[in-house]
This record gives sequence, C-alpha cells and structure tokens, in this order.
Amino acid sequence: MAKGAALEIENLSVKIDDKLILKNINLKLEAGERAFVFGPNGSGKSTLIRTIMGIPSCKVVSGSISYEGKEITDLDVYSRSKLGVSMLFQQPPEIRGVKLAHLLKLCLGKKRNDEFSSDEMETIKRFNLVEFLDRDVNVGFSGGERKKAEILQILFLKSKLVLLDEPDSGVDVDSLRFLSSELENYLNDSKATSLIITHKGDILDFVKAENACVIIDGMNHCFPDPKTIYEEIRTNGYEHCLSCSTRITEGLA
Ligand code: ADP
Ligand code: MG
Repeated sequence: MAKGAALEIENLSVKIDDKLILKNINLKLEAGERAFVFGPNGSGKSTLIRTIMGIPSCKVVSGSISYEGKEITDLDVYSRSKLGVSMLFQQPPEIRGVKLAHLLKLCLGKKRNDEFSSDEMETIKRFNLVEFLDRDVNVGFSGGERKKAEILQILFLKSKLVLLDEPDSGVDVDSLRFLSSELENYLNDSKATSLIITHKGDILDFVKAENACVIIDGMNHCFPDPKTIYEEIRTNGYEHCLSCSTRITEGLA
C-alpha cells in the first residue's frame, strides 16, 4: 500500500490558551523533501513545529496532521517520537539531573551503563561534545552548544521527520558551517523529511531544500525555491513577499 506524503497538513488551525495562532495551514512534503520556513517574529513558526511534534499547549481546533499517510493529530509526543518525528527547540531547555551522556544513550536505544561504540564516540568527538558528556543537559551550555547537542540527538535518534526551529540562531560562522554540513549529510543519507525555520540566509548555502513556506499572521504561503524567496524577503520585506505570492506560485516571477 502506498504510504502517502511524509508530512501532510490540511486546514490546520491551532490555539494557545484562547488565542488563535495558526489559521488554516496547508503543507505537504513528500518523503525526503525539505522546506525552509520563514516569517516575521510571532507569526506562528514555532507553534507550527510544536504542533506537529504534539506539544500539548498547542491545541488543534480544526484540521489534521498526517505522517506517512497516518493521521497523528491526536497522538501524544512520545507516540510521535516513536514513529520517527523529532524537533530541535528554538531555545533548548535545561534538563537538570540528566547527563548529556545518558540522554544520548537513550537516543541510541542504549541503557545508562552501556558504552558508546567507537563510531558513536567518533561522532561525539566530531561535534566537540566529549567534555559535555558528564554535564547536565544544556545547563550552562551556550546557545550554539545547545544547538550542537540537540542536532547530535536527532542524528542518534535516526529521526525520519526532522523539525528544526532556528538551528542557526546563536551559532557562530564556523559552527554553522559544521552543523549545516552534518545536517545535509544526515538528511541525504537517511532520506529524512525536514522542516527548517530560519531567519538567516547562510544556512541556505549549505542545506538544500526544494520548498519555502512563509508564515505571516498564522497563515502560510508556499513557494518553490527558498533562495529566491529569501532574497525577496531580504530586499523588500514580508509585505511585498505576500503581494507577489500568486505570481511566484504560478512560476511567473
Ligand atoms: P514565531 O516562532 O513565528 O516567532 P511563535 O509561534 O513562537 O512565533 O508565536 C506565535 C504567537 O503565539 C506569538 O504572538 C506568541 O506570543 C504567541 N504565543 C506563543 N506561545 C504562547 C503561550 N504559551 N501563551 C500565549 N501566547 C503564546
Ligand atoms: Mg519561533
């Protein structure tokens, strides 16, 4: 039986508390496709990713989310995670009392007392995280170190739907190049599907994507070619991007 799109969001509206944040979002990604998500501050980008992950504060009031042809709208975070969905937080939270080594072992399906294999240890070294293994997760980590640790967790989890909320924020130029190339390699090798929120253009040079999704005031507008849209936004701002959305969608830009 055909599996269906890797991710299909239909007419999704979402509230946080009593405030309607997302309004009738529609988005479809085939397996292995990637989309960059752009949008002004407060437009609902993080809410979209958090809703796909199943974070309980994001209440779906209408519409549906399907993953590999199966509706997951009512599944909890744990069930979605078991299916291969994972997200990188915009601001990865501190987890006191849990060592990074333990969390990475959980991601690998290992027990607390299991050793890392030599390949796993090599990867941890490549990420420059060896000296962080015995520290509580994210406690005292810089912004960039948190992103590094989160991306390593995603790699170890072998996630199939990778939701990244500003993987480039707080990350220096060299670390951005490193993390982007790790992500690009992972996405290529695993054929994972990915949604990546960004405000900056640099990551577009390293991580390739077929689609761009612009969220403004909780509504989305989708286009091919993230680089063209990013340049459009950078030059003319989000309002202009909205005004020419039809033209671009029809391939006339
Ligand atoms: P973005 O990621 O695009 O900057 P968010 O999705 O984080 O935006 O937020 C969208 C809107 O939802 C904002 O107006 C924000 O203030 C509001 N919002 C997000 N989380 C909460 C919350 N827990 N309580 C109230 N409002 C919230
Ligand atoms: Mg956000």
